[in-house]
Amino acid sequence: MSQTPAHSTYDIIIVGGAIMGASAAWFISEDKAFDGRILVVEKDPTYEFSSTMHTNSCMRQQFSAELNVRISQFAAQFVQNLPDFMHGDWVPKLKVRSFGYMYLADTEDFAGVLRENLSVQAAAGAATQLMTPDQIKAAYPFYNVDDIVLGSINLVDEGLWDGTAVFDAWRKAGRANGVEYVHNEVVAMTKNTAGTRLESVTLASGEVVSCGQVLNASGPRAARTAGMAGISVPVEPRKRYSWIFAAETPLDRDLPLTIDPSGVHVRENGGGTYQCGAHSEIDPAVAYDDFAMDHSLWESHVWPILATRIPQFEAIKVTHEWGGHYSYNTFDHNAIMGPHTQIENFYFLNGFSGHGLQQSPAMGRGTAEIMVHGAYQALDMSPFNFERIETNRPIIEKAVI
Ligand SMILES: Cc1cc2nc3c(=O)[nH]c(=O)nc-3n(C[C@H](O)[C@H](O)[C@H](O)COP(=O)(O)OP(=O)(O)OC[C@H]3O[C@@H](n4cnc5c(N)ncnc54)[C@H](O)[C@@H]3O)c2cc1C
Repeated sequence: MSQTPAHSTYDIIIVGGAIMGASAAWFISEDKAFDGRILVVEKDPTYEFSSTMHTNSCMRQQFSAELNVRISQFAAQFVQNLPDFMHGDWVPKLKVRSFGYMYLADTEDFAGVLRENLSVQAAAGAATQLMTPDQIKAAYPFYNVDDIVLGSINLVDEGLWDGTAVFDAWRKAGRANGVEYVHNEVVAMTKNTAGTRLESVTLASGEVVSCGQVLNASGPRAARTAGMAGISVPVEPRKRYSWIFAAETPLDRDLPLTIDPSGVHVRENGGGTYQCGAHSEIDPAVAYDDFAMDHSLWESHVWPILATRIPQFEAIKVTHEWGGHYSYNTFDHNAIMGPHTQIENFYFLNGFSGHGLQQSPAMGRGTAEIMVHGAYQALDMSPFNFERIETNRPIIEKAVI
């Protein structure tokens, strides 16, 4: 990846080249109506600190907002039917390992939320089923369900998928379409005198690049990038911890991505290993470069919960652990996309609050539609526009993990 853009003017500049930037770049470059130049500026081409590389890599249809259900349905359809030219030698034919997400409710109130969510999901065609504690125990004997009132699971197109392979394929196919990726950092932006349009972005290397449109795909740094255009966006980095562990006695069937009522979640990882995630009780915004692990959390909080829920997890050994960032939308935990209301050529692709990997196909497609055609076509994504924040109309997503 070079550091210097080949041209001093681009029709579209994308700030951030992880999964959202790569998806949007590819979908735009595929659009027959687009005949311009796309520059993707990425400050860290190893992607080591991106959310994309810290993910659980799962998809689900169990959301409370119908649009999120439909977005995930498109993800399942897209990744399982990748265009042939996107299949490099290293990109397998992708299938979702559909072990489902198992939501466990331990109160009647929470069970009521699962029932409400099911009606939204069923209306959108999702195969979610409610399970009584006896049904859960019969299907998954390893759970302790003594305190459980109700469970909810969907075994169709819900589970593990290979987000990294799709990310690689998008970058490769985008480059083949002429998308330029440069290793650099966007550090400033300039506007016209009326303040209604961005005219250029400045890179850390000092180059000033003129822009047609600018897309903010900078993940947890979304607010910093928007700030360069004088825009305030309610997205902040929140730390999420992950652990991989091996079980002395592995479970005899796939472990659904199980969401314990405490919020601790754990899923099948293959080969007698499991991936688990949690956050601290106090969940503040953290510094952009703070990825330090909280080593006490496992012993004091996570492992006891796991061993209570699945007694076989009394005997386990952690093999890997890491801290990552959600780009957390503090307004309503949902995506923010489309154009800004006053700066007409500044576009958002931000705020995914822990469910962005699975949203990347629909977000890339929707972004291409709005940036190239000025309107959504396949799926109306306008409920996620920035205007809802200015006019205080939240679309609360209740099923945030
Ligand atoms: C622990 C964890 C588990 C998760 N599990 C799931 C899951 O199971 N399913 C799911 O759907 N989602 C999951 N997510 C969420 C998902 O990973 C993110 O929503 C998604 O990866 C967001 O991608 P992004 O491209 O917006 O952001 P990022 O991957 O963070 O990429 C942003 C990129 O922008 C670059 N950048 C920032 N500022 C600049 C700048 N000024 N100039 C140049 N480059 C810049 C950064 O270097 C970075 O590479 C999880 C997240 C975490 C942390």
